[in-house]
Amino acid sequence: MHDVLIVGSGPAGVCLAAACGAAGLDVAVLTPDETLPWGNTYGVWLDELDDPALLATLGPRWDDVRVIAGGTTIALGRSYGWFDNDALQRELHRRAAENQVIWYRGSAASIDSAGGGARVVTHEGPTFAARVVVDATGHQPALLRRPLGPRVAWQAAYGVVGQIRDMPVPAGAAVFMDYRPATGARGGRERTPTFLYAMDLGAGRGFVEETSLAAAPAVGFDVLQQRLEARLAQAGATIDATEHIERCLFPMNGGIPERDGCLIGFGAAAGMVHPASGFLVGAALRRAPRVARVLAAVFEAGVSAEQAASAAWQAVWPPDQRRRLALYEFGLAALLRMNQATLSAFFAAFFRLPSTRWREFLSDRGTAATVAGTMLRLFVVAPLGVKLVLMLTAFREWPLLLRALRGT
Ligand SMILES: Cc1cc2nc3c(=O)[nH]c(=O)nc-3n(C[C@H](O)[C@H](O)[C@H](O)COP(=O)(O)OP(=O)(O)OC[C@H]3O[C@@H](n4cnc5c(N)ncnc54)[C@H](O)[C@@H]3O)c2cc1C
Repeated sequence: MHDVLIVGSGPAGVCLAAACGAAGLDVAVLTPDETLPWGNTYGVWLDELDDPALLATLGPRWDDVRVIAGGTTIALGRSYGWFDNDALQRELHRRAAENQVIWYRGSAASIDSAGGGARVVTHEGPTFAARVVVDATGHQPALLRRPLGPRVAWQAAYGVVGQIRDMPVPAGAAVFMDYRPATGARGGRERTPTFLYAMDLGAGRGFVEETSLAAAPAVGFDVLQQRLEARLAQAGATIDATEHIERCLFPMNGGIPERDGCLIGFGAAAGMVHPASGFLVGAALRRAPRVARVLAAVFEAGVSAEQAASAAWQAVWPPDQRRRLALYEFGLAALLRMNQATLSAFFAAFFRLPSTRWREFLSDRGTAATVAGTMLRLFVVAPLGVKLVLMLTAFREWPLLLRALRGT
């Protein structure tokens, strides 16, 4: 029986495995194939990476990062980068190997309690036991129960990496959000807002992605593709060669699953996606060492497996983070009520707040009190149309505000 069995080898699973190994725990990872490359483009704000070795795994970086919203261009003055996924995966695997992390091949099917821990049964037959099992199998967890109801909002995006002539982004720059509408797109749910997320990659290469921050139901890839094409045509840009197409779809407010005995979650499976941005990787890299330290400390103290799982789950989701999540979900409910113009005005007001405010809001670093403070400040400076939506949301979604106060 291992101390910890992590199920899944995406960024969350592997960084937690490496951190648990470094904390001196006996760790194993169960995954269909730990060598499979991570296919998504993972973006991160550079100042959110404290660890120089992880900073060194970044690929392209941009110091000139802009938001186009509310009829103006706002220079964010904050550096942004993409991970070089191979480099990040290599670095985390190196750390895991250094700390004797064991890899098992297989696909988790179910979990049973076993004397002093839990036993994971695989589709292939073999079973693996650990005192604490961590489900890190992504947005649709294999073991944790996380039912997604009809009110769940989805982030969806359709993007292209390739040779792009006359990129709709200045040389060397990144556009984090361009909320000007993509006019001329055919069909689709015209009123559902989307924005352009785009980066110049140098040497004639670029990345352009039409993104729906959140919508319920999700915006279809066909609509996103049409809007992207219309937007590029409008800007006089042409894709000469496509290297990679990214299709992105995941829930933004799927909630926190319940811990189940010795089973906890980490990463997307644990609902750690930031409901205001959809980001997760930076937060997982930061939170993993804390969770690992807690597990090592409680095992050292000789507590039961279930108590250890409970303490680790508290480290993944401390009470104040739960309060913050309720506030973010309130914010998301407001965004879902906004049309393209209102959302554009909202983000113009948001990114004009003092940068310490919006930086913290988009990270997992602040407290529920600072998030609430930022929201109140935004309400004060927001234009009337945005204020009305926020007030209507407060009237309709008061249980979320209550949850933020109670922290349940
Ligand atoms: C296209 C796209 C772009 C994104 N861009 C960003 C971004 O820029 N920045 C950011 O921070 N976030 C981004 N996200 C959101 C989020 O960070 C990713 O979804 C991230 O991959 C989640 O990491 P994870 O390790 O929790 O899960 P995943 O990456 O989904 O990994 C899950 C792992 O579990 C394994 N697995 C699945 N089922 C089983 C099973 N039954 N048994 C064993 N193993 C199993 C899989 O093989 C995989 O290894 C993006 C998401 C998408 C889809």
